[in-house]
Parts: sequence; C-alpha cells; structure tokens
Amino acid sequence: DNPIARKPDWIRVRAPNHPTYHETRKLMRDNKLVTVCEEAACPNIGECWSQRHATMMIMGEICTRACAFCNVTTGMPNALDSDEPERVADAVARLGLRHVVITSVDRDDLADGGAHHFARVIGALRASAPDTTVEILTPDFLRKPGALEVVVRARPDVFNHNLETVPRLYPTIRPGARYYQSLRLLDDVKRMDPSIFTKSGLMLGLGEERTEITQVMDDLRIADVDFITLGQYLQPTVKHAAVARFVTPDEFADYATIARVKGFLQVSASPLTRSSYHADSDFAELRAA
Ligand code: SF4
Ligand code: SF4
Repeated sequence: DNPIARKPDWIRVRAPNHPTYHETRKLMRDNKLVTVCEEAACPNIGECWSQRHATMMIMGEICTRACAFCNVTTGMPNALDSDEPERVADAVARLGLRHVVITSVDRDDLADGGAHHFARVIGALRASAPDTTVEILTPDFLRKPGALEVVVRARPDVFNHNLETVPRLYPTIRPGARYYQSLRLLDDVKRMDPSIFTKSGLMLGLGEERTEITQVMDDLRIADVDFITLGQYLQPTVKHAAVARFVTPDEFADYATIARVKGFLQVSASPLTRSSYHADSDFAELRAA
C-alpha cells in the first residue's frame, strides 16, 4: 500500500505532453535555471508550462531551512551566481510573459538573505522585459536588518510572502520561521510602498481549523494584504508532513467567499491553487478592472 494518502478525484493532473511544455523545459535547461514547478513537484506543471508559465527559483537549489511540507533540499547552498539575473531576464523575454513570478530558496547564510540578488533580478527584468509585470515570492528575511528595504526599493509589482499555515502549526510545519515576523514583513512592505500589491497564501489540509483560517485572513487584512491564495497541501514524499485531510472544492469555494467579504482584492482558492497558479491572468484581470 502506498503510505501517501490516496488523492481524491478532484485532484486531477494532466500529463505534461504538450509541445510548448517541452519548449519551456528546454529554455529553462538552456538558461541553467531552476524552477519551483519542478523542485516542488507541482501538480500544475503540465498546464502551466504548456502556456509558458514557469516560476523560476533563484539563488540555487539548496535551502537553509527545512519546512516540513517542502520538497526542496536542505543544506549549505552554493555561492550566488552573478549571471543569474541576466539569464532569468533573458528567459522571461523569450517566453514572452506579461507577468512573471520569481521565487527563491531561503538564504540564512547570506548577510542580506539574498535581498540584493532579488533586486538585481528585478532590475534585469525591467531592462529586458519592460512590459512584463513582476511578482516576487520571497523568504522572510528573518534577522536580516535592512534587507526588506532593498527589495522594496526595486519596486516589484506584487510582493508575495506566504504565511503557509496557521500560527499553531508553525513549530511543526515551518520550524525556522515566526508567524508574526512573516505577517509584519507584509505590513512593512505596504507601509514602505503602498503602490506595491501584497499577497500571501496558505496550504490547507495540514490540520488547521476553520476558525484559525478565518483568523489568519483577518490578520492579513489588518496588515493591508491585497491578494490571498488557498490551496490543498500535497505530501511530496513520505518523509514530509502527512496530509491531515483533503479539503473539498465546496469548502474552498466557501473560503473564497469569506475572503472576498473580508476585502481581499484578488482571491484564489481551490484544491490546486498555488501562489503562482494563474497569477498572470488574475493580475491582468485586476489591472483591467
Ligand atoms: Fe509552476 Fe506555479 Fe504553475 Fe506550479 S502553479 S507549475 S509552481 S507556475
Ligand atoms: Fe522550502 Fe522555502 Fe521552506 Fe526553503 S524556506 S524549505 S524553499 S518552503
């Protein structure tokens, strides 16, 4: 028997066999880029890559944290690659994206947590793909004074930092992080530059209660966070946190309604929602509104 919980029917994943999927894959290889789509074994890769939507993960494949839900390898990362910003920008220009999501591993080993590297990537994107809107999904820059300012000054269009789960589950699910530090980071971004949209997300199915989820929504709104994403947690391997429960599509729809009522400008809540899933079309819709 497979010890990983059997997935319900509503978690359907299309096989990645579209020609554009292979083109996207080749471009990532040619430009020596790492993607969270592959590193996180994302179930949406077939759909996203056939529309050229790849989410690049900068600063290497090795993370200094060990979150219990995450498939990325933990260890001592390599030195930063100073050519990476150009390679990311070149790939985005060639993919022809109107909106790109850039994320990274956590770099507790660097004095600035990688903030200057993030800023360089945003700068390179502005130069080679000026019409592309840029969304970043960052680490928490815990104990890195001044780092957040560096990233905010580079003026991404959307600043995403995921709370990932409810505060009660932090010690087991996100042991290296602090709930209020992550919340404060989002609040700080908005205060530093109110023109930047802020965004956060949670994985559901880790054992959280409904009242805890709605409390997190309230916390995010108090921090003026604009967008929210809610998706089902899927266990990448048996060594990772187990799925406590599969949240039904109806429950996700209910959470989406609650989130809209609470005033989030953009809400994405479904079993296969991920931070970067449909980020492009959602943002375009918002700008057109
Ligand atoms: Fe990649 Fe995000 Fe799409 Fe998953 S949802 S395949 S991480 S772009
Ligand atoms: Fe994964 Fe991010 Fe946690 Fe690192 S900090 S283990 S990349 S979720």
